[in-house]
Amino acid sequence: MMLGKKQLLINGEWRDASNGKTQPVVNPATEEVIAEVASATPEDVDAAVQAARAALEGPWGTMPARERGRLVYKLGEQLMAEADEMARLETLHNGKPITESRHVEIPMAAECLQYFAGWADKVHGETVPVKGGQLVYTLREPVGVVAAIVPWNFPLLIAIWKVAPALAMGNTVILKPASQTPLTALKLGEMATNLGFPPGVLNIITGSGSTAGQAIVDHPGIDKIAFTGDTSTGKGIMKSAADTLKHITLELGGKSPNIVFADADLDAAVRGATMGIFYGKGEVCAAGSRLLVEASIKDEFLAKVADRAKKMTAGDPLNPKTRLGAISSKSQMERVLGYIETAKKEGATLLAGGERTDIGTGKGYFLQPTVFGDVTGDMTIAREEIFGPVLAAIEFTDVEDAIAKANSSIYGLASGVWTKDIKKAHYVASKLKAGTVWINTYNVYDTAAAFGGYKQSGFGREMSMHALEYYTQVKTVWVELA
Ligand code: NAP
Ligand code: MG
Repeated sequence: MMLGKKQLLINGEWRDASNGKTQPVVNPATEEVIAEVASATPEDVDAAVQAARAALEGPWGTMPARERGRLVYKLGEQLMAEADEMARLETLHNGKPITESRHVEIPMAAECLQYFAGWADKVHGETVPVKGGQLVYTLREPVGVVAAIVPWNFPLLIAIWKVAPALAMGNTVILKPASQTPLTALKLGEMATNLGFPPGVLNIITGSGSTAGQAIVDHPGIDKIAFTGDTSTGKGIMKSAADTLKHITLELGGKSPNIVFADADLDAAVRGATMGIFYGKGEVCAAGSRLLVEASIKDEFLAKVADRAKKMTAGDPLNPKTRLGAISSKSQMERVLGYIETAKKEGATLLAGGERTDIGTGKGYFLQPTVFGDVTGDMTIAREEIFGPVLAAIEFTDVEDAIAKANSSIYGLASGVWTKDIKKAHYVASKLKAGTVWINTYNVYDTAAAFGGYKQSGFGREMSMHALEYYTQVKTVWVELA
């Protein structure tokens, strides 16, 4: 166990779970236990809530906004100063290629912190011209104690999408990482503590969703839950949170369509289609998992996509040359393999991959990049989020057919459109029911650009100025002047 035992961060102090229980963290590329983390109890959650509340009403609440912003900015700097170590941890517990951790996700997380740090002293109230002549002004206040519950696919980045705006807007935070991937959240807590964030401003609670997560959702002292994860978990959280009427934002699953018209730059579209599904091993909520291809180019296009998929081989995630890492866990790998079997039974044509593979070590949860053709809208792999490197290709006949097929999903997180015809591109963008539309590109993000779902992909927006709304509330003050 190379990384040893890790404790909870509550009120600026590291402590064991109240009952002493721990849970293992596994490296999915080697199947080895690499750390043991505390498995928090409801009592630990309660202690974190007390600490977060005290910080909110104490040092964090009274700190000038600009100073608060400066601390959040420094956290971004520190993240880059320790980017190598942070990226290594992210790759060890998740299995993602080190190139993705080190050169994409850690820098994006640092940028996000610094972007929101800049907002800290720029969000404020206004005066309101009311008919009675009173002085009416508004105060923009934090929501309060915010719990961030995050998944294992982008463990640090998705946490930062919540932690950064929450802290910048003056909230205090309880961060619960996924059981499989707690290491980078703990390291973030360590950095914040060393930088002088007051105790209780950022608490890290590791433990199971059913115990620690549910205790967070049920706790009356928490004002808001920012959740990313499975749609069914999100629905459960929404139901439970109704009892205490918490604010919630949910970023849930997707089955995003990537639409390729015959008039597209086909080589660029092939790259976009493969990167859109195989980046992050397909464990990406916005993955372009439904490839919609115009009938006239279908065979040629899918042959190229399949060819490219066959050339992508899994490798050691810690090797800087690796582009396809390990599936995050054994259970996730088995789930994906189950979808592959179902696709075959339901009559889809396997064009590439379809099997477990290994990197010469005989260990690790690796899958071949997989492409299915002849997929129809009623098949399971066209409807359900697989969350793995499995592409389902569906053909369409014309623009209206493409739009109808793209929108025939309970989800609406993202979408892609490939065409050289700008009128068609913008028309289709206007018709897609999705929070993001990428035209002639896919899977690009920027901290200034909002991200979030339509339909059952959730609600609320992360990143961008729109996220500020979800971490503040407006107080209206009336002053009688007569
Ligand atoms: P999940 O259960 O929704 O987990 C997300 C987070 O919620 C984790 O921190 C989890 O903790 C926690 N959690 C679980 N049950 C909870 C509860 N009752 N109350 C509060 N928190 C709770 O997702 P998963 O099981 O890891 O993955 C299952 C599937 O979800 C995947 O196969 C994929 O299809 C989808 N998924 C989607 C996204 C996305 O970004 N859209 C991300 C991840 C997964 P534990 O880890 O301790 O259970
Ligand atoms: Mg789960």
